[in-house]
Order: sequence, then structure tokens, then C-alpha cells
Amino acid sequence: MSLEQIAILLVGLAGAVSFSTILWTRRIKHVWPKRKQIKIVNPKGFFTGSAEVIFQTRVIANRPFVGVMHLLVFYGFVTFGLKSVTHVYAGFLDYAHPIPMGFLDPILDGFAVLVLASVIGLAIRRYTIMRHQLTHMLESGIVLAMIGTLMITYILERPWGLDLGISGPGVGGPEVNWWVHYFILCSFPSLIAYGKHLHLVMGPVNVVLKHMVELPSDRPIDGADLDMGDENTPEEHFEAELIRVGMPNGVSDFSFHTLFDPAACIECGRCNDACPSADAGLKPREHFVLAFRDPNTNTESLSELAPPETVSTCTQCRACDTVCPVGNRPSRAGLELRGRMTAEGLYPPRGLKEGGSDRVTASGNIFAGDPSDRATFIEENNIAYFNHEEHNVLFVLGCQGAHSPEAQPVVIATARLLEAAGIQYGVLKDESCWGEGLLHGGGIMEDWPFYKMERVMELSEALAEDHDRTILTICPHCKDNIGVQLSEAAESMELKKFASVVSHVSFLKNLLDDGKIQIEKKAETMAVHHPCKTIHNDETADFDALLAAAGVTGKTAGKSPAVPSCCGGGGGGFLWDSPAKVSQNRWKDLEATTGESKVVTGCPGCHRMLGVAKSEEGSTTDIANLVYERLKSNIAQAKSEASVPESSEETSA
Ligand code: SF4
Ligand code: SF4
Repeated sequence: MSLEQIAILLVGLAGAVSFSTILWTRRIKHVWPKRKQIKIVNPKGFFTGSAEVIFQTRVIANRPFVGVMHLLVFYGFVTFGLKSVTHVYAGFLDYAHPIPMGFLDPILDGFAVLVLASVIGLAIRRYTIMRHQLTHMLESGIVLAMIGTLMITYILERPWGLDLGISGPGVGGPEVNWWVHYFILCSFPSLIAYGKHLHLVMGPVNVVLKHMVELPSDRPIDGADLDMGDENTPEEHFEAELIRVGMPNGVSDFSFHTLFDPAACIECGRCNDACPSADAGLKPREHFVLAFRDPNTNTESLSELAPPETVSTCTQCRACDTVCPVGNRPSRAGLELRGRMTAEGLYPPRGLKEGGSDRVTASGNIFAGDPSDRATFIEENNIAYFNHEEHNVLFVLGCQGAHSPEAQPVVIATARLLEAAGIQYGVLKDESCWGEGLLHGGGIMEDWPFYKMERVMELSEALAEDHDRTILTICPHCKDNIGVQLSEAAESMELKKFASVVSHVSFLKNLLDDGKIQIEKKAETMAVHHPCKTIHNDETADFDALLAAAGVTGKTAGKSPAVPSCCGGGGGGFLWDSPAKVSQNRWKDLEATTGESKVVTGCPGCHRMLGVAKSEEGSTTDIANLVYERLKSNIAQAKSEASVPESSEETSA
């Protein structure tokens, strides 16, 4: 073996050792123990995820120009991987005669030119138009220069490159060209493993993975499973549980997905742009993704990177998740962060605790409402109490339906629609908050396990243990809490899940489809605020179908419903006066974009938040109210009342 060949081997070996060391210590070591948390539930997702990677649909969707540029660089990366093997091999044979690759050569030639053009385009964009918005200017500059040099050295070794007269002895000849290319090939992986460009590899992996795995459910942390034992359980057990769900070791205590997302992040800032709480300083990229990048970040420095006050302004709208081109879920990491901070006593901040979770714990509902007011409301409106022998549907009111003046008309409208459809239903005699404010407010870590068990027992008893009975809500947050949180709790108590928890949006749509209620179209135009939860629960189509059936022309604002646009109430936002002021911004946006002052929604939280933020001439309503106003029997009754002559009323009086 010649000295030159030994040098090739040594440089290659140094590159491989450097790459694997950096990759392991900085990126994989702390994630590796969490690999068992990956739960593959949809193997077919491999194909949909791969299609998304191959066509780069999400990358291109939001930013077509830059998306196509990145697409070309990505494909250049893939295509030249193979070519690189033959390039190295040529070093052992003859620098001046690259190994031909048949039909692939002209394809690679084309790619080389396109990638070079894209690199120049991206460099111009980065250092001129976007220079104030993008980060990692030096690292990105080096990466672009390296890719560009790889392409140039490739072109120079091609016959047409030589024909151009830009290669040859004048610029060092094929040897120099080969070595420049080879040095970059060997050092490039280490740079990628060290910096943000690891996303070139991990981004595609993450996209495919997210199509296949079970994502963390809508609960704050593993801590929702906090094992409290019973009255005989020693105090140390509880302390150990708090450590398990806390973050005594800083970042490395977090779950697989929270730790893996930073490696996939391309730091594009799309999530920051979409975040409705940006006015309060929330940046999902920084607070919920990059804060978890360094495995050595401890609890104290994590609290500085993601201060609890800022974390508390996240409304869990998931706009960030929706726009992320590499499948990251900043909102899930934010939820986990809240939960673990709670276990450490760092969360919630005082305003949220006093305004929200303490009130719920003390009174059982988010308004600290008097239970007798709820009873009066139910009785005055002739709503029956649930009896499992008579009623098919348990109608859950939630805190809002029982106590909020905005939501009570929605309860009445829904109740009257159920009666018109001949549905036998009833409501609970006593009802406490189903947990939304407590969970997302992060307020009662220690009480939550008992609290949810109590709710499960109450519900189970009311249903006479028939957990398949339909539970209807006017609030998608209650739906999720009963359908997911309490169902999981029921299973852990060796009871059945609550199998049929439905929102009024889907329930009313089904009543219409089945012909159980009939409505007359009444033309009206209004702004539509699709609740985030309606979007998360895939009920947008039902919502829009109800609007269409009612004859309502709905105008949307921004990218909603494709990207959730929050009212500010989610994530515990309706519990306190959050500094994010999301509701005001959303109202202004709705009014300015649609030119309408009447807004329809389908969640009492949105109804309330927008109702508080609305302009003087503005008004809000719920989809159930619109349907009820158009109920044929209502219209017939109104017509018959209108046809009664005034004098006859007087006569009969
Ligand atoms: S999390 Fe996603 S959207 Fe946000 S900066 Fe990273 S890649 Fe972009
Ligand atoms: S879930 Fe919504 S509020 Fe929270 S970080 Fe993401 S975009 Fe911002």
C-alpha cells in the first residue's frame, strides 16, 4: 500500500471517529435510554411519512421558493452519497479517471448545477434578505460553502468540467481537486453532527417516525399516572413518585420525543411565526425545542431557558406542531415541561395558580360558582336529571355550561334540540370540573390522581357502571378529559373506558343526517372561529357541514382551520388574565379580515374568551344556537304566534 493510500485511510478514519464521537456524546447518548418509549402503532405510516419526505410537501407548502431550494439541496445530498463512494475508491486507483456511473452521470451532472444554483440562492437569501431573522450565520455559511465546494470539485473532475478549461495543472490538477473533495467529505459529517444541520439526517427520520408512532396523549406528563398508593403508603413512596415525574436531572429526564425533536429541528422559525402568544415572549422554537438540545442543561438553567411565566402563556393550540416541516411537536414538549416543572414546585406561576387552579380545587369549578345556581338554572329550564333507566344520553354541562352566561344558552339550545329529536337525556345532579383547567393549569399535581379517581367513580355510579352509554358535552375540553384522561384512569382502576364521549358538534350533525331534526336554511354571513379542539378532534368537517345546513356563509381569518388560530382559552388560558392577550388579537384579526362583527364558534371556552374581547358592536354565538334558531318546529311556532291577531290575544285575556 502506498503512502498516499495510507493517508486516504487515515483521513477517512479520523472523519469517522470524529463524527461518531460527536454524534454519540452530543446527540444520542441521552436519547438512547428512552428508545423504548417509541410505540409503533401504525406501521403503514412508514409509507405516508416517506412520501412526505420524498416530495417534501410540508417544507414546500408554507414557503414554496425556499422549500424548493432546500428540496434540491436535500436531493443533492442523497444522490451524491452514492457518488462519494466511487470518488473515494477512485483515490486508490487513479485521481484523473473518476469511475463512470453510466446513466447516473448525466443525472448527477444536472443535480450538481441545480444544487450549486440553490446554494448560491440560499446564501443570497440568508445574508441579505433574511439576515436579521435567521440564526447560526457562521455555521450555515460554512455548510453552504462546503456543499458548494463539493459541487464545484465534482464539476471540475467531469470531462465537461475539464473541457471548460477550469481544471488541470493551472489550478493544481486532478490530485488537488480530489483531495479538496475528499477532505470536505470526511469533515462534513462531524460539522453536521455538531450543529443544527443534523436535521438533514434526523428531519426525514422524524417525519417518518411521527407517522408511525403513538404520540404522547393530551396529558401533561407521565405524572398523570402518578401512583399515590393508599393511606398506608409511606411518605417516601410519594417523594419517589414526584422525582419520577419531575426533572431533578434537568433535560435528560424528559421523554424521547421531547429530546429527539431538537435534532430534527431546522430552526426555520415557522413555529414562532404561528404562535399566538408571541406578544408575551413565547417562542416555541427556543422554549420548547432548542432548550432541550444540550443534554447537560440542568433544572436551573432549563428554567432560565424556558421561564415558567413564559411557558404558562402557551395555549396548547398546536399551531406550532401543524406548521413544523419536520414533524416536531413543540406543544407536547411544552406540556411535558409544565408537568415536570409542577413536580419541581416551579409551576404554575402565581397569577395562574391564584386565578385558576386554587379556585378550582376549592370550589370544584373554574368560576367558583355556587352549586345551587347550577341547580336553579337546570330546573328553570326544565332539564331532567339523569336516570340511567330512562335516559340514553348523559348530558355533561361542564363548568361553563353550568355557570357561564355565554354558555348557558348553548346548553338550552342543545337540550331543546335533543328533545326535538326524541333523545332521552338527563344531566348530572352534581358536577365538578372535569379537569381541563387543573391539568393544563398545572395546578394540582398532588391532588390530581385522587381528583380524577373521584370523577371516575361519580360518573360510573351515575351511569350504573354502563360505561358504553353516550356522554354528550358542549365543550371539547370536557370531551377530551372524560374520553382520554378519565378513561385512562378508569382502566387503571380496572373499570371500562368511557367508550362514547361525543361533542355537540358531531352529535347534532348526526341528528341532522339521520333526519331526527329538521332545520330551515336562513341566509346569514358571519365570521367563523374554529375552536382548536374541534380541529384537533377532526370535527372541522362536521362543524362546517352544520353551518352549510343552516345556510350560514362563514368567513375564516388567517390560515384557520388548516392552522389552528387560538382564542387564548386553551392550556388553562381561560383561568386567568394571561399576559399573552391572545383573545384580543384573535378578535381584531377576525373582525379586520372578515369584515364581520358576528362570530360563530363551537366551544364555550372560545365563546367566552372572544365574548370578553369583542368590540362594542360585536357578538358571539355557538353553532348549536344557530341550529336551534332554524329548527323547523321553532319556525312553525314563531309563524303561528305571529299569525295570532293582537286583538284576539286581548280578547282571550
Ligand atoms: S420546531 Fe419545526 S417549525 Fe419550529 S423551528 Fe424547528 S423545524 Fe422550524
Ligand atoms: S401550542 Fe400554540 S401557544 Fe403553545 S407554543 Fe405552540 S403555537 Fe404557541
